[in-house]
Amino acid sequence: MKLNSPLQVYKYLPQINCAECGEATCMAFASHLIDRSKKLEDCPPLLKDEFKKKYVELQTLLAPEIREITIGTGEQAKKIGGDDVLYRHQLTFFDPTAFAYDVWDTMPENELIDRINRIQNFRKFYVGKFLKLDMIAVRCVSGDALKFAGTVKKVSETTKLPLILCSFDPSVLKAALDVVKDKNPLIYAATEKNWGEVAELALNYKVPVVLFSTDLDKLKSLALTFREMGIKDLVLDPGTYPQGKQLKGTFERFVKLRRAGIKEGQKDIAYPIMAVPLNAWLVYKDTATASYWETVLASVFTVRYGDIMILHSLEPYAVLPEVHLRDTIYTDPRTPVKVAPGVNQVGSPAKDSWLSD
Ligand code: SF4
Repeated sequence: MKLNSPLQVYKYLPQINCAECGEATCMAFASHLIDRSKKLEDCPPLLKDEFKKKYVELQTLLAPEIREITIGTGEQAKKIGGDDVLYRHQLTFFDPTAFAYDVWDTMPENELIDRINRIQNFRKFYVGKFLKLDMIAVRCVSGDALKFAGTVKKVSETTKLPLILCSFDPSVLKAALDVVKDKNPLIYAATEKNWGEVAELALNYKVPVVLFSTDLDKLKSLALTFREMGIKDLVLDPGTYPQGKQLKGTFERFVKLRRAGIKEGQKDIAYPIMAVPLNAWLVYKDTATASYWETVLASVFTVRYGDIMILHSLEPYAVLPEVHLRDTIYTDPRTPVKVAPGVNQVGSPAKDSWLSD
């Protein structure tokens, strides 16, 4: 049973009102645990042996309904999942959808570096902060493990952004993991066919892993198997189809998965969900049309319930609506958007400034 009121949480706290957490009372601290503006470790007495049992219980009782997992390391690491509600107005959504943009192992090196820099340098100033892109998804197109590992090495030397390593071939994933094993990449993906070998990689290298199946029963069965093997950091990809009835089916799978995880309390399937709007490029060959439909998919699954997605188009007309919509969906409705009042100088506008981002 998840705790969702300060009074319930208070019962597990030391109740000595020592103020070491920065709050005057344990009850005030309990409120901050509920809205996640403080964490258990901010209460030093709770970490002492005397309260260790309560601390461990609280870890479970306060855990989000959807498992929160971390990809990458250091300051650029991203958390995904971690939600407790189906609708933002019920509380808030916590970890914004992570946007990963693709590079691939047949790119000439100069183009590869240029694309990585475009991804990692993207900035859009909006209401007091910069909207940014989050990750790089390295796709194996060549089928050659050594070539893929070489590309992953070059990518990791060029950026600190978290990585997704994409191949259905476990030997290709292994070659890349040997290069970036300390960077906590997400590996994509385990399927009905390769799950045994991919599970072994996730265990040996201690990395999060994506499970792929468009059949939700099979996806659940894969998740159960991985969980029983001790692999907890899972992401579910129920398939993203860009058009027609299959798009309708995709939408229904996303909603079913999230409702199962939050409303029906099915812990076996309460993991972050991955969308792959990049699949629009498999259907539409013209750049503007593919970008347009990719953005439509990204928008739909930012709203319903993509926690992480792989995208391709870096055209401003594709990226801008995606980052703006995400920011809107993940703004905390309990805190009105505001900026400090005053007259501020913004940049140094020149003749052609209106043409820039
Ligand atoms: S540090 Fe812990 S014990 Fe002290 S007031 Fe805060 S919650 Fe209570």
